[in-house]
Amino acid sequence: MRMEAPFNYRDNLLYAEDVALDSIARRAGTPCYVYSSNAILGRYRAYDRAFGDLPHKVCYAVKANSNLAVLALLARAGAGFDIVSGGELHKVLRAGGNPDDVVFSGVGKTAEEVEFALEKGIHSFNCESEAELSLIDALAARLGAKAKVALRVNPDVDAETHPYISTGLREHKFGIAMNDVEEIYSRARWLQHLELEGVSCHIGSQLLNPEPLLAALDRMLELIDRLRAKGIAIRHLDLGGGLGVPYRPSEQAPSISDYITRIRNRVSGRNLTLMVEPGRSLVAEAGILLSRVLYRKRSGEKEFVILDAAMNDLIRPSLYRAHHEILPVKRDESRGTVVADVVGPVCETGDFLARDRELANVLPGDLVAICTAGAYGFVLSSNYNARPRGAEVMVAGNGWRVVRQRESFDDLVRGEMA
Ligand SMILES: *Cc1c(COP(=O)(O)O)cnc(C)c1O
Repeated sequence: MRMEAPFNYRDNLLYAEDVALDSIARRAGTPCYVYSSNAILGRYRAYDRAFGDLPHKVCYAVKANSNLAVLALLARAGAGFDIVSGGELHKVLRAGGNPDDVVFSGVGKTAEEVEFALEKGIHSFNCESEAELSLIDALAARLGAKAKVALRVNPDVDAETHPYISTGLREHKFGIAMNDVEEIYSRARWLQHLELEGVSCHIGSQLLNPEPLLAALDRMLELIDRLRAKGIAIRHLDLGGGLGVPYRPSEQAPSISDYITRIRNRVSGRNLTLMVEPGRSLVAEAGILLSRVLYRKRSGEKEFVILDAAMNDLIRPSLYRAHHEILPVKRDESRGTVVADVVGPVCETGDFLARDRELANVLPGDLVAICTAGAYGFVLSSNYNARPRGAEVMVAGNGWRVVRQRESFDDLVRGEMA
């Protein structure tokens, strides 16, 4: 399936779908996140369709971008959701998500969060310890409910990605070691308010090579065979998220449909429902951060482009040294390029969006698009330096709307007491 690029130049002006980005900046202000609804839907459908008639659930990992409009769009398209907190469950329900399509992941669920999820009747819990199994069993007993659970297994494969977003090795805090799983399932059989119906894993994020994911799949299928042989009726396998996206023009990401087709070929005929929890691969490429150039400045040998967006708006470059392409909204090739550090107004040396980057020779007042910012962008933003968070905008065809208002100074002091 051909994936339409959501951000394209027309007559040297950058568009989101059929909307020129300068018109959004004029009315919504900057900095501002802009999302393409058709890009999100296209990627969701690529997952969904590639599964074909294999029983499956595509559970969007809410933590990648939890704007209500993103959640509502995916809920209407039939997606499920992977949550990691009570707050995310609240947002999914508020957006019209079906509780029976929600899986609850995370290594530190509180009793309040488990109770909330049980009351709402979510599909299942991905459990990360024996203590968590006991807690869910006890709370389910109190509510007279039966909780469906999957153990999150650590398949001990190397995701070959950034150490901060790699999760599938034995030394990581996530999951239960493969060697311990069978014993824990055997003991947990006696917990009367649990239904041990699944196994899950998630080995890391931003994988540009799908082989480790497929290696994890093979290990999980062998585990399921062993569990079933012991009489534990495993019905679903949740493979987690992790598929990467190209942040640089030189990078190539696996296609969603090829990846899922390879999974389907290994799983079909096994009487197993396959679940995946994609976050980044659904929304990263569907979003940009729109920002205006405030100043240009030269300091010694270094050239700086100073934007109105900063590390509090998009922390990935500072946190992971992540690369985001930066494009001028108005392209004028006669101006040439410049090699510069692209920085924001925050008082930290670590406040940069790009370093030693060759980019269009943009001048004060010009707009730029910081690309591939739809995942782990706004959700990781903060009010550092008492900067109100920017707006979020959703585009559909030639229409667009603000889906989160720019914060005001009043928002900055809400809940505080002098
Ligand atoms: C973060 C996370 C995901 C989503 O990962 P992506 O790399 O964004 O696809 C899925 N499942 C779990 C358990 C996670 O922690």
